[in-house]
Amino acid sequence: MSRFLRPGYQGLDAYTPGEQPRVKDLIKLNTNESPYPPSPLAVAAVDKQALEDARLYCDIGATALRRAIGAHLGVDPDWVIPGNGSDEILSWLFLAYGQNGAAFADVTYGFYRVWAALFGVDARIIPLEADFSLNPAAYMGDDRLVVLANPNAPTGLWLELSQVEAIVQANPHQVVVVDEAYVDFGGQSAARLTQTYSNLVVVQTFSKSRSLAGARLGFAVACPELIQDLGKMKFSLNPYNVNSLTQRMGAAAMADEAYFEQCVNRIVLSRDWTREQLLALGFQVLPSRTNFLFASPPDGGGAAYQQALRRQNILVRHFPGQRTAPFVRISIGTQAQMEQLMKVTKEMYSDA
Ligand SMILES: *Cc1c(COP(=O)(O)O)cnc(C)c1O
Repeated sequence: MSRFLRPGYQGLDAYTPGEQPRVKDLIKLNTNESPYPPSPLAVAAVDKQALEDARLYCDIGATALRRAIGAHLGVDPDWVIPGNGSDEILSWLFLAYGQNGAAFADVTYGFYRVWAALFGVDARIIPLEADFSLNPAAYMGDDRLVVLANPNAPTGLWLELSQVEAIVQANPHQVVVVDEAYVDFGGQSAARLTQTYSNLVVVQTFSKSRSLAGARLGFAVACPELIQDLGKMKFSLNPYNVNSLTQRMGAAAMADEAYFEQCVNRIVLSRDWTREQLLALGFQVLPSRTNFLFASPPDGGGAAYQQALRRQNILVRHFPGQRTAPFVRISIGTQAQMEQLMKVTKEMYSDA
């Protein structure tokens, strides 16, 4: 750190992403990417013309992309704004609506704390219940921005749509954000509720279920007034936030429903298979409607399990916090990768 950094940022605890080593033959199950390539239509969308068009600024309104997203969700394109990953959208939301503070869970997406700290938003951290479930009543009767990941990470647990709606209804005077990064793997989206509630923002990403983590693309769905607020953030920070190649890939990926469903179905089958296998070995495994499992080995040694897997060239994520330390988060890879994970896991724990 230099002596020039603003004093207010010197103590900032920035987000720690999962590691991205460029090692061959690694089974990478640590950052919830898709093990499958993007839709062939998305790959074909980056043709020679698209590459040559990179000399021009991109479509600032992302018209074709917003139309594709709107068609998928059954909402008008004016109700959609894309971002450079859903991370960018979430940062706008803290910036735009954090004046009274923000409320979110103790065990949830680690970036929420970072944005709160960066933007001077007072964070009210609400502990999940002992079983990691979220009690909707804890998010009612406050005047803060409410931020829910549904399904939640790294637990994989979810709220029913009626519970999300109850939280939105109970907070008519502030914005409620539902971060649906994992909703395609079995959750119920609140996107249609935006048609009824003018305080609801639903955020989704192309990084997980659409295999475009590296292209950086996410979006918000909300009523046009809220979308205009977010547009103000975008035009004050980085108007050309979603590059032209990503816009093309995203529109094509969104339109290819058949490929999307095929990938999601495979991941869900491998997830449920892996969960059964881990349970049979005596692991504690939370139910999951995501593309990962939150699992604790029989001896509760999450860090030791992560390190043992690492020696076998399998990366999973360990979160050292007090409540999360007994667990690891295992992203769902291909079925062959999950079989390899179970093979080495059985060697570690079957005679324990
Ligand atoms: C992965 C993830 C994001 C960020 O996704 P990007 O679109 O890649 O920025 C946001 N929220 C949650 C809960 C996530 O797991």
